[in-house]
Amino acid sequence: MALEPELFDALLHTVRRFVSERLRPLEAEVEAADAVPESIVEEMKALGLFGLSISEEYGGLGLTMAEECRVAMEMGRTTPAFRSAFGTNVGIGSQGLVIAGTPEQKAAWLPRIARGEIITSFALTEPDVGSDSASVKTRADRNGDAYRLRGTKRYITNADKAQLFTVMARTGSEAGGRGVSAFLVPRDLPGVSIGEPEKKMGQKGARVADVIFDDVLVPAENRLGAEGEGFHIAMQVLDRGRLHIAAVCVGVAERLIADCVAYASQRRQFGKAIAEHQLIQAMLADSKTESLAARALVLETAAAKDALDQRTAREAYRPAHGASTTMEAAAAKYFASEMVGRVADRAVQIFGGAGYIADYGIERLYRDVRLFRIYEGTSQIQQLIIAREMLKRGG
Ligand SMILES: Cc1cc2nc3c(=O)[nH]c(=O)nc-3n(C[C@H](O)[C@H](O)[C@H](O)COP(=O)(O)OP(=O)(O)OC[C@H]3O[C@@H](n4cnc5c(N)ncnc54)[C@H](O)[C@@H]3O)c2cc1C
Repeated sequence: MALEPELFDALLHTVRRFVSERLRPLEAEVEAADAVPESIVEEMKALGLFGLSISEEYGGLGLTMAEECRVAMEMGRTTPAFRSAFGTNVGIGSQGLVIAGTPEQKAAWLPRIARGEIITSFALTEPDVGSDSASVKTRADRNGDAYRLRGTKRYITNADKAQLFTVMARTGSEAGGRGVSAFLVPRDLPGVSIGEPEKKMGQKGARVADVIFDDVLVPAENRLGAEGEGFHIAMQVLDRGRLHIAAVCVGVAERLIADCVAYASQRRQFGKAIAEHQLIQAMLADSKTESLAARALVLETAAAKDALDQRTAREAYRPAHGASTTMEAAAAKYFASEMVGRVADRAVQIFGGAGYIADYGIERLYRDVRLFRIYEGTSQIQQLIIAREMLKRGG
């Protein structure tokens, strides 16, 4: 259910002010500390950001996908680490539970996730399993009324803070996606441990680490969906997640474009503002055109997803008609993540030497946006998905 338009406008306005007044002044501090201050996380909880996508029944704001994308665009106007602080609760960490959880599982976890009382992470990637995510090697073998979980998950966002993981593990002997099941694994189960946070190129403040499962006994009631449904659940989660990431890319692009316009208007060379040189104008125009195109693609796909989700809710768990927005979500993620890479590159160029110097923040965003082309499926994987869906649909 969409929020009342006035309520949604008020939320967007509040997030915009929060970003400009509270978050942007802290960008350099977050970069240096590789951490988002706890006081800011508390403010995010108070604003309801951890529960954007979770229904009001479970204490969230219950935004539609289109509304969530608009909020994600606002959050994109600052260092992406701030969004990551609540991003896994809104997206990949919680959505398996939302899509496939039983009423008991939802009641047990969703209210705490929505309030930000607990952090939740999504654990699919492994040391030897990346793009070929259907080949997960982590095993969950049935053992009475529990599953014995063994394996290592890699690059898991927010792992060091998470109290709950959605883990994809192989239950059957079947190869590929059909042998994979999904589990809710609390951090405090004996045998769960977390590796040291990785040193990354950018997005400092959003930490990733290994999650190691060493003979963890997971109660059978913690399985999400039926045995063998885990990969399908994970792909549905990523369909949403990719749209959300695409929306963040649009937000970062708009931020960079605004910074470029401001800098180009005051920086003078050859006796006039560099904004008056047509070759600079061409770069500004290319960035704005591509950003507007990505914005339209994201919002149109989000609206189509909302319409499809409403139909699916009426028709039960899986749409009988086989319709999906998988192709469009992959296209949005592919286009928007590549687009923001080009926009960031032009921003460095427009700033000249200052674009390469840390004080101006452009080089930081240049490094930050590089990740968008890699996680939640690389650009190459999005291309494969788009082509697969095209061929399936016959054009
Ligand atoms: C900061 C960060 C946060 C992350 N957060 C999470 C998280 O929270 N949860 C999680 O589960 N994972 C997470 N990941 C993992 C991320 O999703 C993977 O890194 C990503 O899917 C790519 O997998 P890989 O790194 O193993 O690369 P690989 O799969 O090894 O790919 C290497 C290269 O080969 C290309 N390639 C692979 N297969 C093909 C093909 N068939 N055709 C053409 N090219 C191909 C890829 O596009 C890429 O260019 C995160 C990663 C990072 C860096």
